[in-house]
Amino acid sequence: MALKWIPLETQSKHIHVLVTAVGPLKCNCTLIYNSLTLEAVIIDAGGDADELLKCLRTYKLKLKAVYHTHAHFDHFLASEALRKATGCPLFLHKKDLFLWDMLETQCQLFGFPLHQEKTLPPDGFIKDGQTLDLDDLGTHQTLVTPGHTPGSCCFHLESHGILVAGDTLFHGGIGRTDLWGGDESAIYRSITQRLHVLDVDTTVITGHGKLTTIQQERHYFN
Ligand SMILES: [Zn+2]
Ligand SMILES: [Zn+2]
Repeated sequence: MALKWIPLETQSKHIHVLVTAVGPLKCNCTLIYNSLTLEAVIIDAGGDADELLKCLRTYKLKLKAVYHTHAHFDHFLASEALRKATGCPLFLHKKDLFLWDMLETQCQLFGFPLHQEKTLPPDGFIKDGQTLDLDDLGTHQTLVTPGHTPGSCCFHLESHGILVAGDTLFHGGIGRTDLWGGDESAIYRSITQRLHVLDVDTTVITGHGKLTTIQQERHYFN
């Protein structure tokens, strides 16, 4: 089925941010591209590789990199296929490498048998404060926000008032901490110290389901 992309408002004519739900658990996948250079990055290629590739072809986009908010299986099921098809590098926080390596086990435990080739290691590790490989994206940075997993990250597109939060923050909830390496006090610190301090009007692209804002979710832990 064709993916339904939701465009978000940005502060630049050339920078486009779109979200669609992919894969077995409907992970929110974010596509960011520059319509002048036709270069793109993806955050959380959680499935539907063929559809994602079709979309890149339709818009004639060159995929520069795939970043991951964390390495739960439903956030990187399509990553290897994208790398194979486009040659783009994959990036993950080092502390989630153990989850990346247990993709098959994760799929089994959640009842989604894996029907794809082996996923090889990521090409590079994400660091706090790192920027994304896309020209003219404006002020932006990676926020390392452990808790949901040890290497969970959010991507803050400050110039556009957008936060890609993965499973750290949801519309009406926060990420679970009962899976491998989850840490309740860490997610508490991450949300209060790194996310609540952002502009309250920031649009939050959550890991699954509806988008939200910092304002709407600010009551957690307060
Ligand atoms: Zn997760
Ligand atoms: Zn998830």
